[in-house]
Order: sequence, then structure tokens, then C-alpha cells
Amino acid sequence: MPNTTTDAQTPPPGEHSDSLLRLIADSVPALMAYFDLPDLRCRFANQGYAAYNGHSAASILGLTVREAIGEKAWQAIEPHVERCMQGERVKYMREQTLPNGETRVIEVNLIPHFLETARLVGAFVLITDITERWRAENAVRQSEERMRKFAEATDEAIVFHRNGIIIDGNEALQRLTGFTLPEVLNQSIFSFITPEWRSVALEYTRSGREDPYEVTITHKDGHTIPVEAVGKTMPLQHADYRIVVLHDLTARMKAKEREAFIALHDPLTNLPNRHHLLERLDTLLAQANRRQGHAAVLFIDLDHFKTINDSLGHHAGDQLLCDVAARITQCVRDTDVVARLGGDQFVVVLTNIHTPDDAALVADKLLESMRGVFTLDHQPVTISPSIGISLFPDDGPTGDVLLRCADAAMYHAKENGRGNRQFFLPGMDGRAMEVLQQERLLREAIAQQAFVLHYQPQVSLQDGSLQGFEALVRWKHPERGLVGPDEFIGFAESRGLIAPIGRWVMHEACRQLRDWQDEGLAPVPIAVNLSALEFRQRDLVGEIAAVLQATGLPARFLEIELTESVLMHQTGPVLDTLNALKALGVGVSVDDFGTGYSSLSYLKRYPIDKLKIDRSFVMDAPGDADDVAIVTAIIQMGHSLQLKTVAEGVETPAQMELLRQLGCDLVQGYLVSVPMEAEETRRWMSR
Ligand code: C2E
Ligand code: MG
Ligand code: MG
Repeated sequence: MPNTTTDAQTPPPGEHSDSLLRLIADSVPALMAYFDLPDLRCRFANQGYAAYNGHSAASILGLTVREAIGEKAWQAIEPHVERCMQGERVKYMREQTLPNGETRVIEVNLIPHFLETARLVGAFVLITDITERWRAENAVRQSEERMRKFAEATDEAIVFHRNGIIIDGNEALQRLTGFTLPEVLNQSIFSFITPEWRSVALEYTRSGREDPYEVTITHKDGHTIPVEAVGKTMPLQHADYRIVVLHDLTARMKAKEREAFIALHDPLTNLPNRHHLLERLDTLLAQANRRQGHAAVLFIDLDHFKTINDSLGHHAGDQLLCDVAARITQCVRDTDVVARLGGDQFVVVLTNIHTPDDAALVADKLLESMRGVFTLDHQPVTISPSIGISLFPDDGPTGDVLLRCADAAMYHAKENGRGNRQFFLPGMDGRAMEVLQQERLLREAIAQQAFVLHYQPQVSLQDGSLQGFEALVRWKHPERGLVGPDEFIGFAESRGLIAPIGRWVMHEACRQLRDWQDEGLAPVPIAVNLSALEFRQRDLVGEIAAVLQATGLPARFLEIELTESVLMHQTGPVLDTLNALKALGVGVSVDDFGTGYSSLSYLKRYPIDKLKIDRSFVMDAPGDADDVAIVTAIIQMGHSLQLKTVAEGVETPAQMELLRQLGCDLVQGYLVSVPMEAEETRRWMSR
């Protein structure tokens, strides 16, 4: 029996395949079992499955699913089993808590078993532990989620692309570009970049550069957006991805444009400033030159703007300048240029004029429009401008020159009674230039204190004794030597430069007298001149008190000289100031007396010590009977008001003799001494 032999050495075929199957089934890292219909009884289970459910591979055989896995587990899986019994392959995941408390994730596969006849005969159960895989996948999912959250949370547009093809983008990308994600997916990222920037973007992508660069992209509605792009290459297994972050530069560009605007415009009126004007002039004149055209420059300066500014305040002044800017702009064409040079000075450039009359017409229109009343803080204000006109090419080839000519013509308009216009004529600019030059020099002089005081003695007519000095300022001019006050005090007032000069004089006079007194000289007062403007604008009393304190000069040795106009013009504030000076112990003289207003009533009102009879009345005495009469009247009036009288400009012994007879108290003039510098004065006193 050949079979027997075979039988004795090898197990029968059925038994062999059974044990082979079992070996395989027990070896795979999975739980498996097979259940028969109709009752779903276990016909096969590997060890793992049996042990998992608390059985052995043998004891589980014949049990129904419900019996095999227990009631609780059955409840959980019954719906899946049901579906499988309908012939469906079912796969689901389930969490499982092990007796040691550990949580595992398993994947259950229920596979219906059909015979060829399509008859369902059983179900195969395959359970695998997918905890590790699940964890790994979960980690990826979470990181993707995080990434998405980051991407959505930021305002920067983020786009992912692979070799230039867009594969993802965030919401901000849609906000920035107007395109929805589906609209951009699978499109070339370069198609959104404006043509002129494409090669730059390509270059950055190709070479994998990761530094920021600027490009413009096109919005869905067609407008372009400046952006800063930063690309990062992310090497993945199969391909290089690039993540590109786009930052909208519109706001930054706007700020830059605004900055550029501010640099070229006057912040108050938004009109072009001087710098911008000169640039525009260059261009406009070049154009006019090419077509052999004409142009005009109108230089506009408001008359007495300073008064408005001082009396109504800077706020009202600013408002007026804005209103003036608006009126000027209304009078000219869009192609003309209106600029503000600063202060109350405006410039209009008329392009495309044919004759000087065209420019005159516009200037007249400007004068007319500004004659209308302005309302500032509910107060009606009227102004008048003075306008100077220069013509291109007649008066000059460049903006610089034309501006200077128009400026000079404007000065001329001011001299012609203001509120009018003047064309530039050769020879006009000399004055204007001189004024500018002079102002520059005077500012330098103030900075360097390039002044000197000369002292002129006043002596008693009774006994010739020294009774005082007058301090007279001179400017140490770099080119002209010493320049007298008549040549620059008025000018300094008109350029707003008088205050620093006056302060220097006051301090220097007090300091010098104190020095002399320390040497035992000059136990007499020193007189300091104050212009009307100084008297009005400075805190005189405070300043004088401070100077006296600083120099240590007793107040009774200081006198101030005022002109009649100060006393005539205002009453209240002047009276307060004079009373305060009086209280301080400072003396007050009225200078150039007789030349001002004939009303003398103010003399009684103010606390005055001295009258200085103006030189013009002394000059022609005793020959001129009228002058003698005036001088006589002044001296008598002075005495009746108990004021001392001082005669100025006494040059001859005859004048001196007359004054003595009339009872004048003091004299000052060349006959006694010319004004002397400090050292000479010292020597003069010692004699
Ligand atoms: P003032 O106050 O009437 O000064 C007298 C002027 O007459 C001085 O001219 C003086 O040099 C001149 N003088 C004196 N004696 C004679 C004379 O016998 N014959 C002639 N022909 N002239 C004589 P100066 O120094 O040129 O000053 C002119 C004016 O400048 C002064 O007139 C005064 O109003 C003003 N001034 C001088 N110093 C100052 C100053 O520090 N501040 C201000 N605000 N004004 C000043
Ligand atoms: Mg004087
Ligand atoms: Mg005088």
C-alpha cells in the first residue's frame, strides 16, 4: 500500500493544509476568524482572535459571534455585521481600551463570503492594529491643520506652488487678488505677475532665492498691486514645493508718495513749495522754449499781512493764507502753476501767454478777486496784494532769474503804494538784491554781536558838569566799516530783527556804565534809545529789570528814550509800562520832541522826566525866529510840567548861549562832544 507509506510519513492532504493555514494565520500580526451562516458560528479563528476574546483556538469553534465576543462588543458591531450580511464589504475603525488602560486603534474588515452561485455562506473577519499608522497620520493631519490655521490667521497672502503651478493658497490671497482659490489652482503663478516683473519672479524661483523682492501683481479687476514677495523652497519627497508669502505694499507706497508730496508742497495750503516751483519752472520754460512760446511769473506778496497775523493770531493768519491760495487758484487755468514760497508770498506761473497784456489781465483779476472781504473768526478782513511780473524769455532764461525779477518788480509795486501790479524793468532788481544781502549781513551781525556803542555826553548849561550819556549804536559792517543807526534800525524793524539788537544795546550800555562806576567814573545816568516797535513788542519791564540785576547797575542810572509816536498811538498798555518802569526807578525821556504830534496833552498823562528838543529846531537857532519861538515854548512848557529839557545837536556857542538864556537844563551836541567809543569816553571823563 504505497499510500500507507505515504500516510505514515506525511499527514493526509486535508490535515496538512489545515496546519499550514493555522501556522500562517497564527503568524500574521492580525486577528482573523471565519463565521458560518446561518447562525454565524465560528468555524475558524487564529490564536490571536481567540485569545483576544478570551478563548483558545479550539474552544471558540462553534460559538456564535455574539457568544464569542461577548454581549457588549456585539452591541457595538452588530450594525456592521448586518451590513456585511447584506453582502457589503465593511471596513471600520474602532478605539479599544486594553486591560492595562492603553488605548489602541483597530481596523476591522468584514468580508462576506460568497460561493460561485452568489450565495452568501459566511463572513471573514480581519482585524489589524493600526494604532501606529493612525498616530502618524493624525500627526500629519494636525500639522496640516495647524499650517492652514496659520495661513488663514495671517493677513499676508500665502500661495503654494510646484514648479510655478499653484497648488494651494490661503484666504488672504483671495482678499489680495480678488481671485477665489479654485480660480487660481493649477494656474501658473507667473500669470498673475505683471509682465515687466515676470522675469524677476522667474529668476528668484529658479535660483531658489529666499530674500524678499518687490513685484506688482494684477488684481482680478485689472488694477495692479505692489507686493513684497518672499519665497521659501520646501523640499518634499517627490518634488520641490515653494511657499510664497505676499505682502501688500500699497499702504507703504502711499506713505512714500505722501512723503514725496510733503517734500514738494507747502503743508498749510498744499500748494507746491519753492523747490517744487523751481523744478516745474525748469520743465515749463523748456517746453515754452521748444515751441517758442511765452510765459510769465507773477510774484504776489500780501500787504501788511504781519499786522493781521499779529492782531488776529496765527490761526487767523493761516486761515487767510489758505483762503488767498484758494482765490488765486480760482483765477488761473489748470495748466498754470500756483506755489507758495512761504510767509505771505505766492507765485503764479502763467504758461502759454502771447503778450504781456495777457499777464497783466491775470494780475488784475488776482487783485480784483482779493479785494473782496475775507472772513476770519467771524471778522471781516480786507487785504491787498502787491504783484510783480516778469516775462519769459524777455526778462530772463531761467526760473531762478525770472523769480528774482518778479520779486524785484513786487518790491516796486509796494513802493508804488501797494495793492497794485508792476512789470519788471531793468534796474529794479538791484534794490531787491541789496535788501536781501543786507538782511543776510544783519542776521550775521546779530549772531556775532558785531555792534558797538558810542557815548555822547549831556552837560549842564548852568555849570558845564556832566549830567549823563546817551548810548548810540553802530554796526561794525564787514565791508563798510561803522554804519550808523539811521541806516539799519528802520530796516531791522521791518525785517523783524530789532529785538535782539535792542537787547544787546541795553545790556552793553548798563554793563559799561557799571564798569565806569566801579572805577569811580560817571556817577550819571545812561540813556538808551528804544524804537516804537520795541516798546510795543517786548516785555520791556521784565527785560530791563533782568539786565539791571545782571549788570548790577542801580535803576536810577538808566533812562530810556522814546519818540512821541509811542506815546501818541496807544494809551493803556503804554501807561502801564511807563508806570512800571517808573516804579522800578528807570527814567523816561521823550526824544526828538516837537517833530511828532502837536497835541501835548499826553505829556501830563505819562510819567516823563525829560524832553529832548529835536536837533532840527536847534540847528537854525538863533537865526531862525520861528525855531527860536518853538524852542522857547518847549522849554517853558517843560518847566511848567516840571520836566527837564535837553537840547540836541548843539554845535555852536551861539546856540549854547541862547539855550542858557532860555533856561534849558542840559545840552548834547558836537560842541560838547561827538559820540565817542568807550575808551575815548573814559579818557574824556578823566580830563
Ligand atoms: P537820537 O536819539 O536823536 O540821537 C541823536 C543823534 O544825533 C545821534 O545820531 C547823534 O550822533 C546825532 N548828533 C548828536 N549831536 C549832534 C550834533 O551836534 N550835530 C548833528 N548833526 N548830529 C548830532 P546817530 O547816532 O546817528 O543816531 C541816530 C538815531 O538812531 C538816534 O537819534 C536814535 O533815534 C537812533 N538810535 C541810536 N541808537 C539806537 C539804539 O540803540 N536803539 C534804537 N532803537 N535807536 C537808536
Ligand atoms: Mg536818542
Ligand atoms: Mg534825538
